Amino acid sequence: MHKADRSVKSVDFAGATGHCPDEYIGEEGNIMLRPASYAMAQWIGPGEDARTVIGPVRAEPVAQAGGARLDVQGMLDWARGTGGPTLRAMTFHDRARMLKAVALHLQSRKDELYALNTLTGATRRDGAVDIEGGIGTMLVIASKGRRDMPDGHVYVDGETETLSRGGSFVGQHVSVPLQGVAVHINAFNFPVWGMLEKLAPTLLAGVPAIVKPATQTCYLTEACFRMIVESGLLPEGAVQLVIGGVGDMLDRLGAQDAVAFTGSADTALRLRMNRNLVANSVRFHAEQDSLNATVLGPDVAPGSAAFDHFIKEAGNEITVKAGQKCTAIRRIIVPERHMDAVAEALTARLAQITVGDPGDASVRMGALASLEQKADVLAQLSALSGETRRLTGNPETPALIGAAPRGAFLAPTLLCCDDPDAARAVHSVEAFGPVSTLMPYRDLDHACALTNRGGGSLVASLVTDDPQVARQVALATAAWHGRLYVTGAGSAGESTGHGAPLPHMIHGGPGRAGGGEELGGVRGVLHYMQRTAIQGSPDVIAAITGQWLPGAAETAPPQHPFQRTFHEIRIGETIHTDAREVTLEDIEHFARFTGDTFYAHMDEEAARANPFFPGRVAHGYLLLSFAAGLFVQPDPGPVLANTGLTGLSFRKPVSPGDSIRVRLTAKRKTGRTDTYGEVAWNVTLRNHDDEEVAEYELLTMVAYSR
Ligand code: NAP
Repeated sequence: MHKADRSVKSVDFAGATGHCPDEYIGEEGNIMLRPASYAMAQWIGPGEDARTVIGPVRAEPVAQAGGARLDVQGMLDWARGTGGPTLRAMTFHDRARMLKAVALHLQSRKDELYALNTLTGATRRDGAVDIEGGIGTMLVIASKGRRDMPDGHVYVDGETETLSRGGSFVGQHVSVPLQGVAVHINAFNFPVWGMLEKLAPTLLAGVPAIVKPATQTCYLTEACFRMIVESGLLPEGAVQLVIGGVGDMLDRLGAQDAVAFTGSADTALRLRMNRNLVANSVRFHAEQDSLNATVLGPDVAPGSAAFDHFIKEAGNEITVKAGQKCTAIRRIIVPERHMDAVAEALTARLAQITVGDPGDASVRMGALASLEQKADVLAQLSALSGETRRLTGNPETPALIGAAPRGAFLAPTLLCCDDPDAARAVHSVEAFGPVSTLMPYRDLDHACALTNRGGGSLVASLVTDDPQVARQVALATAAWHGRLYVTGAGSAGESTGHGAPLPHMIHGGPGRAGGGEELGGVRGVLHYMQRTAIQGSPDVIAAITGQWLPGAAETAPPQHPFQRTFHEIRIGETIHTDAREVTLEDIEHFARFTGDTFYAHMDEEAARANPFFPGRVAHGYLLLSFAAGLFVQPDPGPVLANTGLTGLSFRKPVSPGDSIRVRLTAKRKTGRTDTYGEVAWNVTLRNHDDEEVAEYELLTMVAYSR
């Protein structure tokens, strides 16, 4: 068991100057971290069989990790029985607020994470992607939860389906949290981001998680996890941590559980074939290695802004995180005639990359995550050597700043494959380090064919200034890539970077990339929820979703709803207005006033010739204005503003002499700030024959108090 409170000391370890808990620092100033698992609210330190983690910078031990005997079944029961029910009792907004608070807490302590970051071989710039990228991801998911999900327990997925002629039986897709536990197995390259990007959507969904980081960098994950626990912001049982192996945990998962894996294709294959996972249809998402490509458009010439941007992006992808990014560019596909220019520009750029002690501010590229990783990359380089020639120097002999060669350092390495059609290894061997291969294409079809030879990737990028080139590439390649990143001179300044995943969009890739998906705002949250098609009467659907729909019961409010506060307004409260006749004079007045003299309103003969109209008809916008005039209560009150109108459809034309009346019903309420929330109203306009002429959703901001 770990000491609860740790005194903190400033240390300098191979340049990794920072603050480290006292107990980790030996007499000679060396660091021996002892990351602990967190199971059933107990910290459990390394056991007798703990693995010694060798740091990549000095090639000396930095941590003892794993080997503890964990009660795997107890952990699963704790998550399912304690964490799950508490999380599910909260609304999406409650959980989103909780996530935001956690992220802000981590933000306030990020320097402690940076101190450990350098031990993993990563520079400060790499650390920012991992640490602040992870915190930023959590903040975005939290904000999506508040903005795009209800302040309730059921997520309404899409529109109501009409299943009966009279509307008394309808269908609605809803999503509810899984009632099990999510097991997250993460790769070594992003110890913080990797945990937070999975935790955020899982917890927002209302599902507890057990996190298993890769052992090589688990001490950084543990430090971040410990901060989350210490914040006291999460309910008991919401998160647990396994340092080391998960034992037989996967054999004990059931139909309500989910596994999200990031790592190598080999491990993914082994895990996804687990008999129990298959037998119980346990959700298994894999994000695995990928031969990502970038294409230089045929329209982009050396010396142009787009060309420079291409070189910058390719150079960054080779060197950020020492190339240990699942999204890093492994294949650089350029027009034959520009091969020399690209090779020259890229080798010049790579020559400027300083390699060495990641704690040294002048170093641009640190170490690989481990000596094993370095050995793997060298083996993969040798597998590529038959098909490629090296354009840069010997990767094993980089000039190092402030570090000894025994560390896991490699120089940025650019290879060239002259015959990518005959080659096989360059399209299938992932050297997970600062390595990329340049190859020529003849025409755009050839470029697309080469791009797709990776067998399914997380991301492919294209640099072009020609939207038609982008269209051709997208149609030919999108099916093979989870993400297509297209930039050119116009967007280069604001583009997010080939390798940067964004929490707003779904990430993942087909085939070799694992076939999984992660992140993606609400889409990512839905990975941890069950979508169910509910069929029933409108009242049944309204009761389950907490939203009114046509056909569900209407109630009469005690006063005009615009005089009621957010909390007083009840879903289903309805007012029916008086009727108002629409005259020809109204139409002409509106036409003159607004300048909208479209023939359908002004020219009887031309209007009659139009198959949609019986003759001159009222402007749709005139009807909306009259509707507002009919339902609005004009006095100052809790309704603060009309913020929009969605889903407008005009169903039947209104002719001069027709009359209209309005039904206004409170459909949905969503808290927005501490003082007001959004009320969505269903507004339906009917004519004198009781036919629906228009329907829309009106959005208003309504104060919590008068
Ligand atoms: P890895 O060796 O496959 O390990 C990934 C994770 O699986 C680690 O946490 C590892 O734990 C765990 N693991 C291994 N065997 C297991 C088992 N039998 N049961 C349960 N867990 C097990 O991959 P890695 O070397 O950490 O990561 C590098 C690879 O990940 C690269 O190929 C890279 O392309 C890929 N990657 C992909 C993405 C993506 O989003 N697609 C992101 C990052 C990395 P231990 O560390 O304790 O062995």
